[in-house]
Amino acid sequence: MIPTDTLTMAKARLDVAAVWQLLALPGVPARSCRCPLHEDRSASFSIFAGGYGWKCHAGCGQGDAIRFLQCARQLTTRDTLREFVRLAGLDPACPRPSPALVPARVKPRPYARPPAPAWPPMHAGTPYDHGRLAALRRVSVASVRLASERGLLRFGIWRGCPAWFVCDRSRRVAQARRLDGALWWSDGPKAQTLPGGCASWPLGVSESNGFPLIALCEGGPDLLAALHLALCAGREADVAPVVLLGASQRIQADALPMFTRRRVRIFPHADAAGHEAAKVWTRQLLEVGAQVDAYDLTPFRTVAGAKLKDLNDLTAHENHKPPNLFL
Ligand SMILES: [Zn+2]
Repeated sequence: MIPTDTLTMAKARLDVAAVWQLLALPGVPARSCRCPLHEDRSASFSIFAGGYGWKCHAGCGQGDAIRFLQCARQLTTRDTLREFVRLAGLDPACPRPSPALVPARVKPRPYARPPAPAWPPMHAGTPYDHGRLAALRRVSVASVRLASERGLLRFGIWRGCPAWFVCDRSRRVAQARRLDGALWWSDGPKAQTLPGGCASWPLGVSESNGFPLIALCEGGPDLLAALHLALCAGREADVAPVVLLGASQRIQADALPMFTRRRVRIFPHADAAGHEAAKVWTRQLLEVGAQVDAYDLTPFRTVAGAKLKDLNDLTAHENHKPPNLFL
């Protein structure tokens, strides 16, 4: 028997589109779309009730996200409920989130409201996920795939929405953004650090071992852009992106020794906060004997002549041959 609290929490996390994505069903969920449960030539499928209700007008059925899972997987009611709770990242047998999923150091984050109890299940992404993220961030699919292969990018559901996560194998921190590019809630943030994460952890630093050059970037989109530009320059075998989740973060002290004698090129955002961050990070890295420089993005312009803000802008508004930033 699944505790009521667990089921309520799972229902809040997963809408019909989320179950659709997690099962990797064909097609694209929308208010009116082709039914993923039968071979549909017209748009027989509707999603309504804020994303939590569905109906196939050709007869596959109707109901909530749980009923949708049951129809898609042809499970018994008992197995459907267990699978639904599991898809939501919760333990069907446990009234509280599984302790294994809760990171050890839990620090409240002022912008994580209401606090979510655990990290969701994450996967390397389907070709569909990779294509969707590449289109959203204006980078090549190859760079998205590479980020996933290196363990720096994962996909899953967060707050009921298909999301992409920047993370690394240390599981010290992960940050979620919506795959549709929207804010997490009205007037909310675009990026949300998962509960218990340590935002000053330089994400990907362990994975950078053995690479001649670390590209130290700010935020998930710039991680993808760094790999995109490395691939364009044929330097992907040499460049390891490492990411700090915000210009206000200092590099965490216990990560600094991993930069000793490493070559690091910082790609700060082209604004005051970015330049200040580059100064702080340079000072920290020089202290542990890294070889550091910072790349200045301010000379770059869009076709319309506007300044670029960050590395991802360079891939999104590129109006010339991609520059080799890794010489
Ligand atoms: Zn149908």
